[in-house]
Amino acid sequence: MTAADYVVSPSPIVLVPVKGVAARFPVHRIYCVGRNYAAHAIEMGGDPNREPPFFFQKNPDNLVLGGGDFPYPPKSGNVHFEIEMVIAVGAGGRDIPVDQALDHVYGYAIGIDMTRRDLQDECKKMSRPWEIAKAFEHSAPMGDIVRAADIGHPDKGAIWLKVNGETKQQGDLNQLIWKTPEIISYLSGLFELRPGDLIMSGTPSGVGAIRRGDVMEGFCERVGTVRATVA
Ligand code: MN
Repeated sequence: MTAADYVVSPSPIVLVPVKGVAARFPVHRIYCVGRNYAAHAIEMGGDPNREPPFFFQKNPDNLVLGGGDFPYPPKSGNVHFEIEMVIAVGAGGRDIPVDQALDHVYGYAIGIDMTRRDLQDECKKMSRPWEIAKAFEHSAPMGDIVRAADIGHPDKGAIWLKVNGETKQQGDLNQLIWKTPEIISYLSGLFELRPGDLIMSGTPSGVGAIRRGDVMEGFCERVGTVRATVA
């Protein structure tokens, strides 16, 4: 294919570096799980009990890779961080059983689900969809992927986020309401999962607002780090 084959310029494939491997991970879709830690469900005014998981999406080109800047987005005065473990899907499927779900995982990463909270509050109030709050440019800073072949499947371990060196969010993966295999199984009943899908698994409590100049640093045990400066 050459430029003459397209009526407009095609968007590039978004590629995530993989630790210890020269080849990169091509992103298909980004799914996100809402309210997946009880303490965060409570701080958002929700029910901490195990209601069915719900999902929303971001766009592959919303990713900020390699520790790049997070430009403060327009139309919001209340932009929040949400630190999350990210599942990288290696093998697709529909209606994947829970006990086979981990076979579909290529690896894991750590990401930040940046959220225009004021716009999200409006969306909730008016029963509107969440894209304007969640799927804006640069809304998904993320670290490199580590392979499940190298680290296994983390189901416990510290996950935290610091702003300017001060701890804001601190949780443990063992507090996830819906675990990785259940997330994959449930999601694959709603969508056909494809190799290259990323799933942000939800955030622990302590979400809060950032300001220009802030440095966000996130960590997830075994999985790695993410860093972004608010520009
Ligand atoms: Mn989130």
